[in-house]
Amino acid sequence: MMSVSAQLVEEYFASGTLTGLPDKHFIGGSWVAPAQGGKIPTFDPGTGRAFHDFAAGTAEDVAQAVAVAKSAQRDWGRAKALDRGAILYRAAMLLRQEAARFAVVESLDSGKPLQEAEGDVAGAARTFEYYAGAADKMQGDTFPLGADYLGYSINEPVGVTAHIIPWNFPISTAARGIAPALAAGCTAIAKPAETTPLTMLMLAELLHRAGLPAGVCNAVTGTGQAAGAPLVSHPDVRHVTFTGSVPTGTGVMQAVAPNVTSLVLELGGKSPLIVLGDADLDQAVDGVIGAIYENAGQICSAGSRLIVDRRVHGALVERVAERARGLQIGHGLHRAMLGPLNSDAHLAKVAGFVEDARSRGLSIATGGATTTDPATGAGWFHEPTVIDAVPALDPIVQQEIFGPVLAVQVAEDEDHALDLANGTEFGLVAGIYTRDFDAAHRMARDIDAGQIYINEYFAGGIEVPFGGNRKSGFGREKGLVALQSYTRVKSVAARIASHG
Ligand code: NAD
Repeated sequence: MMSVSAQLVEEYFASGTLTGLPDKHFIGGSWVAPAQGGKIPTFDPGTGRAFHDFAAGTAEDVAQAVAVAKSAQRDWGRAKALDRGAILYRAAMLLRQEAARFAVVESLDSGKPLQEAEGDVAGAARTFEYYAGAADKMQGDTFPLGADYLGYSINEPVGVTAHIIPWNFPISTAARGIAPALAAGCTAIAKPAETTPLTMLMLAELLHRAGLPAGVCNAVTGTGQAAGAPLVSHPDVRHVTFTGSVPTGTGVMQAVAPNVTSLVLELGGKSPLIVLGDADLDQAVDGVIGAIYENAGQICSAGSRLIVDRRVHGALVERVAERARGLQIGHGLHRAMLGPLNSDAHLAKVAGFVEDARSRGLSIATGGATTTDPATGAGWFHEPTVIDAVPALDPIVQQEIFGPVLAVQVAEDEDHALDLANGTEFGLVAGIYTRDFDAAHRMARDIDAGQIYINEYFAGGIEVPFGGNRKSGFGREKGLVALQSYTRVKSVAARIASHG
């Protein structure tokens, strides 16, 4: 018998779409048509063809979602933590049961290879499970004021929260913001990216089926201007978690300022993967390939700069370029090793960076051109590209390209590697490959980034806090620390009257 996943893939290639895809907002526990009635097409990046239309949300839809979230807030915030945890746990179970459909839709909407989308859905289920377990462990403190006083604190939910989600990891980003918010007793309104709206809508509906009361989690689709902007600036929204680009993120900072709304910003990166002269090169090659070509490089924490010790530079670049050339390009639903970029506009942007590098005379060790799915001649693809020996101030080193383009920087020694690593305005992650324990931890200490990976790029899980420094943003998601964004401490100090 065919698997659910294979049946869905067959249905898509036979009909050019999938039945039952959501096309309305999910507000107050039901599907709600957009007030203005507008629709936006969503495209399959692997073919470049539209396969579905979704709701073009406006400020009216946002106002409705915020109003229902606000009225659901009191009961949800006062519910027993164990009941909140039980619902999140059921959501994790349901997501695992329905993982095949979520992964096919995610792959189709984003373009990413199906096996990567399956990993993202499994990760999202794990995220709900993790915060389900955390819900009833958010304890307050007592304060030692002496026998005549009682001092204690309560972790209150902040209230209505907004979640602005990018297109590169739609369901993962949604889960990592919404799960801790719901665990903490907040309500949520999510605005997914305009090129990947579908799995967020499906997730909001699944949470409702898992037992989440109506209005506690809502999803409004639409463009950043028409739906995102009125959401983040709404005076009843008490916290915004924004994941996206630096320019949009700084605009959101300004938009929340008049309401003094709290904010987590998860922005871009230009993260270094450092290979010292004594590193295990097999391990390093595997690390580099995953770091820059997974999701076709469209990862905020991609290892987009390879900083390599001069002693192993030639050998490493040759091996990386050879592996890059071997990555089979194709449609995400065919489980290709390298999928398309998410939109034609984004492909043009990535290709522009590479063309400019070529015109400056930089050495392109492999790749360097746009391409198509070899099976169909369609789609928005870019060859896996390695640009060698790039000067430290070149735009290829300084700017986030967000595509399958690796910039190689040559380091003379450990100190030089550290200078290069800290030489951009970003500070999201860094990877270090070495057998020298002391060197690894010296660098971990001295690199300005939110997280460090040693001898395995992307090591970690939902347990490990994640976030950026400098232009990569502020605040932390994942781990127990993420719950702090969704709670505020109320302290109570009481005088106990003497008896009689
Ligand atoms: P983007 O900034 O263009 O859009 C992100 C989201 O913001 C979308 O949902 C968009 O509709 C919305 N938006 C746009 N204008 C808005 C406005 N005025 N008000 C409110 N919302 C608005 O980013 P993108 O191109 O979708 O995503 C790619 C970027 O995201 C990259 O820079 C990447 O590094 C970053 N990113 C960061 C992380 C992280 O955790 N640090 C994770 C994933 C992606």
